[in-house]
Amino acid sequence: MISNDIVDKIKDVMRGANVLESKEERLCYSYDATRQEFLPDLVVRPASTYEISEILKIATANSIPVYIRGAATGLTGGCVPIKGGIVISLTRMNRIIEIDEKNLIAVVEPGVITYDLHREVEKKGLFYPPDPASFQICTIGGNIAENAGGLRGLKYGVTRDYCLGLEAVLATGEIINTGSRTLKCVTGFDLTSLLIGSEGTLAVITRVFLKLLPLPEKKITVSAYFRNIDDAANTVSEIISSKIIPVTLEFMDNDTIRCIEQYLKNIYPEGTDTILLIELDGKAEVIEREIEQVRKTCEKCGAFFCAVARDDKERAILWKARSSISPALYQIAPKKINEDICVPRSVIPEILRRIKKIGEKYKLPIPCFGHAGDGNLHVNIMLDPAVYNIKEAEKAVNEIFENTLELHGTITGEHGIGNTKIKYLEMEVGHDSIRIMKEIKKTFDPAGILNQGKMFE
Ligand SMILES: Cc1cc2nc3c(=O)[nH]c(=O)nc-3n(C[C@H](O)[C@H](O)[C@H](O)COP(=O)(O)OP(=O)(O)OC[C@H]3O[C@@H](n4cnc5c(N)ncnc54)[C@H](O)[C@@H]3O)c2cc1C
Repeated sequence: MISNDIVDKIKDVMRGANVLESKEERLCYSYDATRQEFLPDLVVRPASTYEISEILKIATANSIPVYIRGAATGLTGGCVPIKGGIVISLTRMNRIIEIDEKNLIAVVEPGVITYDLHREVEKKGLFYPPDPASFQICTIGGNIAENAGGLRGLKYGVTRDYCLGLEAVLATGEIINTGSRTLKCVTGFDLTSLLIGSEGTLAVITRVFLKLLPLPEKKITVSAYFRNIDDAANTVSEIISSKIIPVTLEFMDNDTIRCIEQYLKNIYPEGTDTILLIELDGKAEVIEREIEQVRKTCEKCGAFFCAVARDDKERAILWKARSSISPALYQIAPKKINEDICVPRSVIPEILRRIKKIGEKYKLPIPCFGHAGDGNLHVNIMLDPAVYNIKEAEKAVNEIFENTLELHGTITGEHGIGNTKIKYLEMEVGHDSIRIMKEIKKTFDPAGILNQGKMFE
């Protein structure tokens, strides 16, 4: 519980508004996409860096836990207030401050929805590539804090590749500026990189300087259908080694395809075991040539059918199945544990074989799909709690992570650690790295108020 005295001080900072105290209001800030629920004691919705700084000073002085919240689409419990305390919601800080067309830079507040930034820069013929599949609702602040990836990652990289600098408020209330508005900057330690992916444990990001690109002229999509995963995996390697880098190179395995078939009804050719969804962008004449090369490569490697979509309407048809995966998976079971391992591209078939064996051992369906181009696989352990023991599913997760690390992969390519993966962190980074991370955390947040119970205990 937070004393009335402290609540009054916070209300003074917020000039009486945007401090939410009722249970009904606090409930709206108690969960995220992991469906965990923890009730905060208080919610504040600041509109300025100054307000955030003052609130954090009060929280540090009184050792009150603080949880930073964007749109709550996180998949590892990052913004969930597991120790109560204060939730700072950033949705009111949603201004696109500047789109600098001369220098191809955008300056935004953290609560800007990623899709709103896409739309605004595209109106000016510019392009902000990071596109997590949640882009229509997630925030730029959440993307920075998670170093979000997305479907365009293979060609364009992840959020880190577009963040030039930040303004951030430390737990003590101090305001720091990192990086710069320039494309190059090596002045001192790279604190921008440190804050990217820090999952709300080090500071509140209050302003973001982003690099933009010119908007590509055209996009073409191919959907290629295979009778087995090895042919599809081989196709991925062949396309990349032919020196064509698609924007997107997504795959869906046979369990995922069965779910989509049940959900959307008979949309795939009979005998489809694995699908690759490949998108190219660039100058029209160049990608027309390249798409033909990609289609030929797919057929040479065993695709028994390829559909090519050249305009937005046709592309939307091919993409519909990909964007239906989440609801489609719930055809099998009402719950899922969603992991996002990443492995070197060449071992995708091997890790998928091992995951299927683990699924058979524990009698669990494990549909897999994801970004084949960069080896980032979404592994979904489907659960029916009425018939299934969650402990067995956790054993399956543990074995999947052990196999991933044995194949030189990582346990999370984009969703982060949060509270759901704490126990696996040491498995990958080791004790000494965790010690250094904890020391860094202490420097940024001496009272340990920010995101207690996340990343490490
Ligand atoms: C359907 C679906 C699809 C998804 N697809 C992808 C995908 O393709 N790629 C991907 O990378 N992720 C994906 N995600 C996960 C999620 O959308 C991303 O991690 C996203 O970046 C979270 O943004 P958010 O605004 O919802 O942040 P939140 O969930 O609110 O917060 C996430 C973390 O960031 C911290 N945080 C938020 N704002 C700030 C700030 N201003 N300063 C400091 N810390 C802050 C929070 O404390 C928390 O630890 C998906 C999620 C869903 C539900």
